[in-house]
Amino acid sequence: MTERITIIGSGPAGWTAAIYAARAELKPVVYEGAFNEENRQKGTLPLGQLSLTTEVENFPGFPSGDMTGYLDTSIEDSKRRYMAPHGKHGVSGPELMELMRQQAMNFGTRIVTDDIVDIDMSKRPFELTTLSGDKFTSHAIIIAAGARANYLGLPSEDRLKNMGVSACAVCDGALPRFRNHPVVVVGGGDSAMEEANFLTKFASVVYIIHRRDSFRASKIMAERVLSNHKIQVKWNSTVDEVLGDEKTGVTGVRIRSTVDASKTEDVPATGYFAAIGHTPNTDFLKGQLTTNAKGYVVWTTPQRTYTSVEGIFAAGDVADDYYRQAITAAGTGCMAALDAERWLAAQGIE
Ligand code: NAP
Repeated sequence: MTERITIIGSGPAGWTAAIYAARAELKPVVYEGAFNEENRQKGTLPLGQLSLTTEVENFPGFPSGDMTGYLDTSIEDSKRRYMAPHGKHGVSGPELMELMRQQAMNFGTRIVTDDIVDIDMSKRPFELTTLSGDKFTSHAIIIAAGARANYLGLPSEDRLKNMGVSACAVCDGALPRFRNHPVVVVGGGDSAMEEANFLTKFASVVYIIHRRDSFRASKIMAERVLSNHKIQVKWNSTVDEVLGDEKTGVTGVRIRSTVDASKTEDVPATGYFAAIGHTPNTDFLKGQLTTNAKGYVVWTTPQRTYTSVEGIFAAGDVADDYYRQAITAAGTGCMAALDAERWLAAQGIE
């Protein structure tokens, strides 16, 4: 059987595309990704980056309040284990993703918990290969594979991954090695602010290492950080090396001044969190779609989700190095489903 529409990715773009495609009776299948150690380390587990965050305060429709009763009636019990602890806050990232997944399922979306590792775009219908080795064909494809967090690329950073080095405070911050110890966060954007604030729940002090003398982050998030007495900022500094060994893990970082390169300082820390931006998850496309200089999939027609290969559409962060918000990803997911639906109709594929 050839699928009419295959959606690759399980963030807000993928689920919104699925909701629209399912309601158009296109019987979409979503490849939500595989649960494995490689994806955990890369930050590409199912449900995407939002599943690695805490409260989502800016997704319209979810003002602050107690979501418990609503979640009780909208999500299967078995899914509640992924939920962040809840109180009188707005929706959390993992909750929002489970809600979208459930909504897609309610309209008949089929879900496969596996990665797509290859697409043969040279023939129609396209042929897709999964990590498990299955092959199948699909008339239309929506790429909604998202993006993942970057690391600095230092050998010491790589050596100490999972031993104090992380790119996800929300996933790892509560580990015993960080409790009541100093930790560092590298970066000056919203991610760095969010991670630093979150880590103050556990760490004795959080040092933000930033290469300039002002943050890139939004004003509100920067102010929250600057008024938090458990956070200290090391301005104009880059990380030379993550200190520590395989036995004890991270013991600190050596930072160097960007103003006077002869000045270094060793900052003691049991944790090192990279928050320096993202890379789109496009490896499996193997260069078959046109991308921009940063590797993000390019939309070839303004205001349309068309890619350089007809019948393949892109939505969400995999095609967005600028807005990168849950709501924009959801919006482009909707656009991709409508574009795919119209394209399939034009091909006479029902
Ligand atoms: P970002 O805005 O691109 O910021 C990356 C930060 O890392 C910048 O401060 C950058 O420094 C620094 N950096 C990059 N490469 C570096 C290197 N090699 N060495 C040292 N520092 C380096 O990325 P982001 O913080 O992940 O945010 C991405 C998007 O997601 C943004 O649109 C953001 O608003 C959004 N976001 C929103 C929320 C929220 O609203 N709750 C939370 C997280 C993210 P420079 O400033 O010097 O370039």
